[in-house]
Amino acid sequence: MTRKEKATAIAGILDELYPEVPIPLDHQDPYTLLVAVILSAQCTDVRVNQVTPLLFERADTPYAMLELSVEEIEEIIRPCGLAPSKAKGIYNTSRILVDEYGGQVPDQFEDLHKLPSVGRKTANVVLSQAFGVPAFPVDTHIHRLAYRWGLSNGKNPDKTEQDLTKVFPREDWNKLHLQIIYFGREYCPARGHDPATCPICSKYGVKRRMK
Ligand code: SF4
Repeated sequence: MTRKEKATAIAGILDELYPEVPIPLDHQDPYTLLVAVILSAQCTDVRVNQVTPLLFERADTPYAMLELSVEEIEEIIRPCGLAPSKAKGIYNTSRILVDEYGGQVPDQFEDLHKLPSVGRKTANVVLSQAFGVPAFPVDTHIHRLAYRWGLSNGKNPDKTEQDLTKVFPREDWNKLHLQIIYFGREYCPARGHDPATCPICSKYGVKRRMK
């Protein structure tokens, strides 16, 4: 079985398991999604969704965010962890959006990626989930599963993104990255389980150990 054939089979299983893929982070528009994704670094989506209503009540546009001080933002977002750097990132990003983009979130990867606190994954999440542009954001879970399923060599997340975008059709990327995240959350305990019970590994016989 080629890597592409395996990818097609896995996509079929994911489609059966997750015909609907709601976006996990609550948001109203590209700006609030961008802020939510920044907050989600090393934090659960559930926790982010508890905190963002409080933050967006005070500021749900970059203009309003600049009315707050970095310290005020930090205070509100503290439950998400890494609050000092995330608060600075949200403030500085809002400043650039106001100064250079008329208060709008840009819809080009290069522009997004230049913003403070916006790495490759965050830029791809915003492109995909806010603008519907085909992208394959790779977080640590997708990175590990792609390796486990033999769809990538697991070298680093950038390589995984390249490999996944080669084996899955472009029109399915936005759906698939969410399906893999949902699958990982539901089926993949961190350690100590039998791959024979896994709906994907049991069928496709990936024998490699998790990295
Ligand atoms: S074997 Fe376990 S960790 Fe690997 S994909 Fe299946 S459920 Fe997830």
